[in-house]
Amino acid sequence: QEDIFKKLVAHCKEYGFVFQSSEIYDGLGAVYDYGQMGVELKNNIKKYWWDSMVLLHENVVGLDSAIFMHPTIWKASGHVDAFNDPLIDNKDSKKRYRADVLIEDQLGKFEEKMNKEVAKAKKRFGDAFDEQQFRETNPRVLANKQKYDELHARFAKALNDSNLEELKQIIIDQEIVCPISGSRNWTDVRQFNLMFSTEMGSTADGASKIFLRPETAQGIFVNYLNVQKTGRMKIPFGIAQIGKAFRNEIVARQFIFRMREFEQMEMQFFVRPGTELDWFNKWKDTRIAWHRALGFGDENYRFHEHEKLAHYANAAVDVEYKFPFGFKEVEGIHSRTDFDLSQHEEYSGKKIRYFDPELNESYVPYVVETSIGVDRMFLQVVAASYCEEQLEKDSRVVLKLPAPLAPIKLAVLPLVKKDGLPEKAREIIDSLKFDFNCQYDEKDSIGKRYRRQDAIGTPFCVTVDHQSAEDNTVTIRYRDTMKQERVAISDLGNIIGGQVNF
Ligand code: ATP
Repeated sequence: QEDIFKKLVAHCKEYGFVFQSSEIYDGLGAVYDYGQMGVELKNNIKKYWWDSMVLLHENVVGLDSAIFMHPTIWKASGHVDAFNDPLIDNKDSKKRYRADVLIEDQLGKFEEKMNKEVAKAKKRFGDAFDEQQFRETNPRVLANKQKYDELHARFAKALNDSNLEELKQIIIDQEIVCPISGSRNWTDVRQFNLMFSTEMGSTADGASKIFLRPETAQGIFVNYLNVQKTGRMKIPFGIAQIGKAFRNEIVARQFIFRMREFEQMEMQFFVRPGTELDWFNKWKDTRIAWHRALGFGDENYRFHEHEKLAHYANAAVDVEYKFPFGFKEVEGIHSRTDFDLSQHEEYSGKKIRYFDPELNESYVPYVVETSIGVDRMFLQVVAASYCEEQLEKDSRVVLKLPAPLAPIKLAVLPLVKKDGLPEKAREIIDSLKFDFNCQYDEKDSIGKRYRRQDAIGTPFCVTVDHQSAEDNTVTIRYRDTMKQERVAISDLGNIIGGQVNF
């Protein structure tokens, strides 16, 4: 599985999806650039989110707020004091880790051991296998489950109490070693604030320290009144935003899974106090349905309740996807109460109330948030789509991207570079390029060209041959089945157009 992940990273680079930032200067840690294919896939993911949130919900509107904001906003939101990660160093390797991530990995190991036993038994017993009964009775599974549960309870308590000594003690008791040096020689755990800061204005006229936003949500909160008033919005309603966020992550790992500069797609939904948990459940259902609609298999998604609620939340759940390195968070859904708006009332001295005509009273709305990382979603989509297929004579790597997400929808390939075939191919592209993304390719054999398109996930290829010039037909080839058929050029728009839009 880890092997697949390495291949996936190499594939992303080889085909122009993702490059390490500043590569010719040996790179910058946990910062990445998107190449010619990556930017298209990323834009398509954003469109899938934006359309489903803003276009399909009459009561959700968009926003694009600035990255720089008044520094007091981060005081009010609690980020200056509480946006910390528990950090620990290994004294031998001098490597820095997140204490909570080390413990989560340990939990993952117990889970993995349980799953291995189950997989072995499944292989042995085949169809007659009752997984639930096996999990409840097998002594090896039970032993690991007990270890998991005990560690989980202790970990959750330590996080809730922000007990840094206890986090260190867990790492010692569990005999967790540094992956680099293999040593158990750990420092104490200390808090590390994740916000980047910079200075605004020249030092001469008194510069002030400002932060690069660690989430897009606060831009929505401080514009709540502007949007509500100018848009004449009635509660319940939502504000959606896509934009960059910055976190000085301690551990830069797993490619674009955890970055220092990344993009978020967040929606804050403002509701009447007391109704927030109903809305929380509704958005949970809506969001998991959005993920599942991509067709990557329902069994690869699950909800995960938080070990610790953030300082602003009264309910929180993650949508997790089964990455090659295990189930990990892709999206968070949080019931943020009236915490943020109330804090901004207090710190700004401005009233942030909603007059509810049905109740005939004013209140600070409660908020349910859905928050997903574009980059993490990108990694999820690529991981889910990446396939190595053994064919009769050779093999191929194919990205089975859902057609609406594919960077290129149609590749047009003239069989030879002469006899008017290139011109015919260009004619086809000219007639379709306003409807979807087309690519022209005349280099190498048709077989090699098909492989290149498979590798970037192009769902349709058409080959232009000598017959095309005579009867205006082409051979269309479908990526996943590799089936080919003869169709009229005039039908291409309908055949492809019908499948590449959500
Ligand atoms: P984690 O526990 O992985 O650090 P988080 O719980 O801090 O994440 P949130 O603050 O809820 O994450 O952010 C919402 C979403 O933003 C996450 O589900 C994830 O998709 C994305 N995200 C958060 N941090 C990063 C990062 N450093 N790099 C890429 N995406 C991120």
